[in-house]
Amino acid sequence: MSARVIDGRALATGLRVKYAESVAELVRNGIVPGLAVVMIGSDPASHLYVRNKIRACDECGVRSFLHALSADATEAEVLDLIGELNADPSVHGILVQLPLPPQIDVRRVLETIAVDKDVDGFHLYNVGALTVGESIFPPCTPYGVQLLIDQTGIEIEGKHAVVVGASNIVGKPMALMLLQRLATVTICHARTVNLAHHTISADVLVVAAGKPGLIVPQMVKQGAVVIDVGINKLADGKIVGDVDFEGVRDKASWITPVPGGVGPMTVTMLIRNTIRSAQRLPAGSFD
Ligand code: NAD
Repeated sequence: MSARVIDGRALATGLRVKYAESVAELVRNGIVPGLAVVMIGSDPASHLYVRNKIRACDECGVRSFLHALSADATEAEVLDLIGELNADPSVHGILVQLPLPPQIDVRRVLETIAVDKDVDGFHLYNVGALTVGESIFPPCTPYGVQLLIDQTGIEIEGKHAVVVGASNIVGKPMALMLLQRLATVTICHARTVNLAHHTISADVLVVAAGKPGLIVPQMVKQGAVVIDVGINKLADGKIVGDVDFEGVRDKASWITPVPGGVGPMTVTMLIRNTIRSAQRLPAGSFD
């Protein structure tokens, strides 16, 4: 039987309606949530992502402040700007679009963002908070994935979850979130020997490697929930994930499409974190 498709676009749209209501409530109390987006250089993919983020802000009534710096901006200029944004009460969230040009130390930049405005959740404080399960700002992509898995109604606790990809922004925080929900978690990466040996036993398989066609049906357990985080542009311009969607949908019980799966949720979680910052809610459960 063919897997049911988890419609990330529909879930994101519904959440944005709900978030717009939260913004309206804040505005009635005299607070307009504000997100500052710092973009350095002219990477086309970064431009596209930033445009999507600003559009999502507009949709939900969040004010956005775009700071576009040239590719030769110095690290001192970037740190000064972040210092100003940290002190600006109209800014509740600060996002620095990655990757950064080579003259700028990404770690130093991320550590300069005030922890209570770190809506991407990349500051070491928030990374540590996630590790102990008390994050205010769960990183947007894995948190979006968690909500997509919840959409299926499948209980994560006790399940074997396999995460393919171990980056700081997707794979590792994803694994921590699944562990927090009491899954038994395996993390695979480029040096994993015999990837299929791990993926075949996954009840929940999250793939974030950036390799088109990496996951084929023989690697997937019958009835698994398969979440494809990958975004890959093929030579013909087509956008695909890391999973052979047509093949794997005959094995999985639920599967996300690319595009229209994880992508819209990532942007929506950024809005969620910005609103939460404006609400000044304490750390604790994610929603
Ligand atoms: P990354 O390059 O930083 O990390 C990739 C990870 O995959 C690494 O840990 C690497 O070891 C692992 N990997 C690479 N080849 C592998 C293989 N053959 N087998 C097993 N593991 C392998 O990438 P990232 O930033 O984590 O992003 C991963 C993918 O997710 C990319 O396609 C990216 O575009 C996409 N992405 C999507 C969203 C979204 O919102 N949908 C957000 C972030 C990233």
